[in-house]
Amino acid sequence: MQFISTAGESPVVSFEAALLQGLAPDGGLYVPEDIPDVAAAQWRSSDSFPEMAAEILTPWLGRELSPSLLASISARALDFPVPLVALDGPGRKDVYVLELFHGPTLSFKDFGARMMARWMNHFMQKRDERLTILVATSGDTGSAVADGFAGQDAISVVLLYPEGQVSPVQEQQLTVRRPGVHTLAVEGSFDDCQRLVKAAFRDEALSDRLLSSANSINIGRLLPQMLYYFWAFQQGGWDEAVVCVPSGNLGNLTAGVMAAQSGLPVRRFLAAHNANDFFPRFLAGETRAFGDSIRTYSNAMDVGAPSNFERLRSLLPGEALSEQVWASSIADDETLASMRRVFDETGYAADPHTAVGLETATRYRRATGDNAPLIVLSTAHPAKFPETVKKALSQAPEMPARLDAQLQSTEHARRLPPTAEAFRDWLMQELT
Ligand SMILES: *Cc1c(COP(=O)(O)O)cnc(C)c1O
Repeated sequence: MQFISTAGESPVVSFEAALLQGLAPDGGLYVPEDIPDVAAAQWRSSDSFPEMAAEILTPWLGRELSPSLLASISARALDFPVPLVALDGPGRKDVYVLELFHGPTLSFKDFGARMMARWMNHFMQKRDERLTILVATSGDTGSAVADGFAGQDAISVVLLYPEGQVSPVQEQQLTVRRPGVHTLAVEGSFDDCQRLVKAAFRDEALSDRLLSSANSINIGRLLPQMLYYFWAFQQGGWDEAVVCVPSGNLGNLTAGVMAAQSGLPVRRFLAAHNANDFFPRFLAGETRAFGDSIRTYSNAMDVGAPSNFERLRSLLPGEALSEQVWASSIADDETLASMRRVFDETGYAADPHTAVGLETATRYRRATGDNAPLIVLSTAHPAKFPETVKKALSQAPEMPARLDAQLQSTEHARRLPPTAEAFRDWLMQELT
């Protein structure tokens, strides 16, 4: 499997090169040159998630990573459960939640980060080189990446997050002391953080350092995210189902589209957005530029300029995108109301991101009358957002022991002005 750039002006590269570069030299994003078929026999029959993962990845990456390496990395990285939970209650027949938050940092970002860390470390060890990963995070990416990469000795990590714009628990998770991980609190928005990372990659003054990204701009994060889509269908046994994806940078949705193009029978995707509604408006035919991000309760989806948009458009060109994806924008008060209603009707406590998905699912069924089995991806554990859960449900979520343990070793992040120059100076000084 080879990879090409969405900007169309970079050479075709191997998975190793796409993984280690992150962004293509022409500024585009890597997409598969063509998508391999994954036969139903490769995923329908397996009842172990890591084994199924290795089966699916073999047609994608088998030329560069042996089946036994794919299997051992999958077994180590995907060592937590991925339950499919049926909701019950009015209007929710055949509605399921796929819980993607049972990894160490309690969000779906653990899947991509843990797999990618091990793939990258494998290639760096083979080359006998060291790599620095730059990550802009709106909340969950940073802690997942820091956790996934901690202890991989060929790699260091620099995290940038928007100061004061992540939840207190998220901030604590970001600043847990970890070997080889630096955390910077940027005095700006998430989009500023992304801009600084992009500028560092283009900066001639930093060209002697081996830099890479672990954002959803990296194809290595997206490939592992295909796996749980297959798992949901394997668990449910459906011939066809609708999948609803709480979305921000559109990486998760892009991974789902790659899974579908690889053979997974997805009837339709629902892109569930909060007030950051660029993508729903685009699908409704409005042409409009990327905007600034707006702060909401579902802050990991506060993205005004979704970085995977061009990837999605290259995978689903022209009309195909609006035919296969239905989208909705859910306001903060509707998010709270959805959390409360779902809890009252089914007893299920959803986090605010998942709630945006659940509300989108309800609207989709109402608008289309399509009652096909519907899976909502649950992207985070409610304990990561105790204030919002308490506001919606009048009771605090239960704190899982692994989160409690993690939060014991936090420290203060270093503050950084939101300029490319300040970031360059810091990198030159710290990464010698
Ligand atoms: C990152 C994140 C999202 C958005 O995922 P994208 O791939 O950026 O669209 C949704 N929910 C949670 C909890 C997240 O951490």
